[in-house]
Amino acid sequence: MSKLDDIVSLCKRRGFVFPGSDVYGGFAGTWDFGPLGVILKKKIMDSWWSFFVEGRDDMYGVDAAILMNPKTWVASGHTATFADPLVECKECKSRFRADKIADGINESVSSEEFWDLHVKCPVCGKENWGPIRKFNMMFLTHVGAVLPEDTGELAEKSIAYLRPETAQGIFTNFKNVVDTFYPSLPFGLAQQGKAFRNEISPRDFILRDRECSQMEIEYFVKPADWEENFEKMRELFHEFLEKEMGLDASLIHELEVPAEDRAHYSKRTIDFMFDYPNGCEELMGLAYRTDFDLSNIARESGKSMEYRDKITGEVFVPHVIEPSIGVERLFLAVLSNAYIEDEVNGEKRTVLKLPENLAPYRFCVSPLLKNKSELVGKAREVYVLLKEKYGNVTWDDSGNIGKRYRKQDEIGTPKCVVIDFDTLEDKSVTVRDRDTTSQVRVKIEEL
Ligand SMILES: [Zn+2]
Repeated sequence: MSKLDDIVSLCKRRGFVFPGSDVYGGFAGTWDFGPLGVILKKKIMDSWWSFFVEGRDDMYGVDAAILMNPKTWVASGHTATFADPLVECKECKSRFRADKIADGINESVSSEEFWDLHVKCPVCGKENWGPIRKFNMMFLTHVGAVLPEDTGELAEKSIAYLRPETAQGIFTNFKNVVDTFYPSLPFGLAQQGKAFRNEISPRDFILRDRECSQMEIEYFVKPADWEENFEKMRELFHEFLEKEMGLDASLIHELEVPAEDRAHYSKRTIDFMFDYPNGCEELMGLAYRTDFDLSNIARESGKSMEYRDKITGEVFVPHVIEPSIGVERLFLAVLSNAYIEDEVNGEKRTVLKLPENLAPYRFCVSPLLKNKSELVGKAREVYVLLKEKYGNVTWDDSGNIGKRYRKQDEIGTPKCVVIDFDTLEDKSVTVRDRDTTSQVRVKIEEL
């Protein structure tokens, strides 16, 4: 088993992540977060929000609707260009993303270029390909009282899309926020929420799924100040990833995206790459989007997106720096960074060395023996005390103490508190450390 398989297995075994619609045999490209996964995910999202929004004076939050006026996607370019090259095997009818089954080509590969590579079909092994077709990855839906058999204008006018990114929900609220809060430049609008992409072949666990959560900031700047602010964001994100998420700096690599590979809107992009267990993959993107989005919205809506400088009176369309991060990608980076297999007293153990601010539980409280009522009673007392003080505290009296430690190690609980017979005399407990497995006696009131 690869390390990724080990992590997938731990995620299911311990209730972090389950396959979507598991009971019905799954649903490709979807995943459900279980009781521990939802805590970890929430902590990651809250930490981002606190670091980039609450902790600053220049950031504002929004929470826009997932369903947006389809003009949004015409303006943003998604209707025309948010597409992957789809190729079909004429022998077995399997469909693939062309640039994922051949080396050295990108999304803009032509049919001739692809045919010249003489790729064999990954399913049937033959080489008989149809032309490359552009496959738009937006999920299409119909809004309003439209029947499946309806055609023509009624059906066409009802078409909407599940948003493929949260960014446009921010841009479309730029004017609303400027007109209600009068922020000075530079300022940012932040949003967390779901985004949907109909990936041709979802894979790599939660790394490439069809439904994901994004955390995006559009940071509006004066056009001349973009480089300075780009650098500031770049530093801030290193700080966030390394200090708040606990990611090992040596696993993060910056990739300066060359012009031909950049998204259609970007003048400069740095991808923050992470060494995942299955290889180096994109963790987040930092892009300079110029005034692309606001100018497109102005054109498509007929409304001015200009900003008037409070001091100079100068009127212009602000430029934008966009740090965009996928929650699931960060979640997997945090998990794989924390996942360690080591040996304790000659026995193999799996441990999640999660930073304390992200661990689902801060403490696990248990009585040494569960059939001694005086120990259980005292342990419940300590549990209630810690629960009131810290909130994220769990109780475990299953199996023997060794088994409990191994379980808590696997879910990343930093400290296990054990109540034994001495506790009844000296009001002290044993505190066992996840990372070192060392044990110390601590007074209950000092916990
Ligand atoms: Zn085939």
